[in-house]
Amino acid sequence: MNALESQLSYAFGETIPAPGAVHEIVPGLRWARMPLPFALDHVNLWLLQDAVDHGGVMRAGWSVIDTGAGTDATRAAWEQVLAGGLDDQAPVRVIATHCHPDHVGLAGWVCERFAAPFWTTTGEFGFMRMMAAALPGVDGPSAIPHFKRHGLRDAAMLDQMGSRRNYYPSLVPTVPFAYTRLQDGQEFTIGGKVWRVITGFGHSPEHASLYCAALNILISGDMVLPRISTNVSVFAVEPEGNPLQLYLDSLGKFAGLPDDVLVLPSHGKPFRGLHTRIDQLREHHVARLAEVYDACAAPQSAADIVPIMFRRPLDAHQLSFALGEALAHLHKLWYDGQLQRIAGPDGQLLFTQK
Ligand SMILES: [Zn+2]
Repeated sequence: MNALESQLSYAFGETIPAPGAVHEIVPGLRWARMPLPFALDHVNLWLLQDAVDHGGVMRAGWSVIDTGAGTDATRAAWEQVLAGGLDDQAPVRVIATHCHPDHVGLAGWVCERFAAPFWTTTGEFGFMRMMAAALPGVDGPSAIPHFKRHGLRDAAMLDQMGSRRNYYPSLVPTVPFAYTRLQDGQEFTIGGKVWRVITGFGHSPEHASLYCAALNILISGDMVLPRISTNVSVFAVEPEGNPLQLYLDSLGKFAGLPDDVLVLPSHGKPFRGLHTRIDQLREHHVARLAEVYDACAAPQSAADIVPIMFRRPLDAHQLSFALGEALAHLHKLWYDGQLQRIAGPDGQLLFTQK
């Protein structure tokens, strides 16, 4: 546990459900943890006992929040959950917090198998469909001119990024063709309890967190994580974006929640200390912004900033997120009027103090 984590309180200590097992959070709400083939090696799913209208017939079963990546290891873990973790009932609805492959990889698989409806926000649904189709703009090759413009010159890295055309479809083989819309502030019931949608921006197009006042539980998705900071990146599809500002503004939407709310994050362990964690995340970004600003005493590209913010070797997957994140910090300082953007050699974009 690091120093910042020790300011939080992990509600179940070091308990972690094994792949295929479930752990009860409160009666009718269970935690499953699915393996991921990345450095970040797991994602949490939340299973809520429920009854959902299927074409005029109420069907009892489980609402599933997020589904894991579309890998054989996750399918195998799912088979175990279905066999032993759901009291012989089936999923009756799939709810997606957002479009990233670790969250919706098996959404199509679960929805199809159990004829379950799929609920998510319109922004996330649109991006899922775009990325599953590997449309130009959100595929691997689109990242190359974007990252070249921002100073990446490593030919081998650019090659690897460009060859990742099928990265998203390989982890999200199918996305449901239809959905039920979630909107900010919307309230709906899961298992007879009212849950409120809190949308968030900057990490993904229209991320849905879910809050239940009766249970005093927040399903935070990727918006608030206890150990790592949420990735906030400028990607090729929205090259002039200011996602760090969007993310910091979105954190403000959790301000009214109780201090002792139990937070169920997508990565890491359930914890209390939401507002402490949000303060930590704000301080983290203030410190990163100060480092980036100082570095820009001389003109810098986003690629120049990466080793300042990330002092460790990065593979192509990590580098694409690191570059996006460096650019997110540069853009916030630029939009705040602290940096100016200038044209550098070879069509590069550079940022420097005003
Ligand atoms: Zn995510």
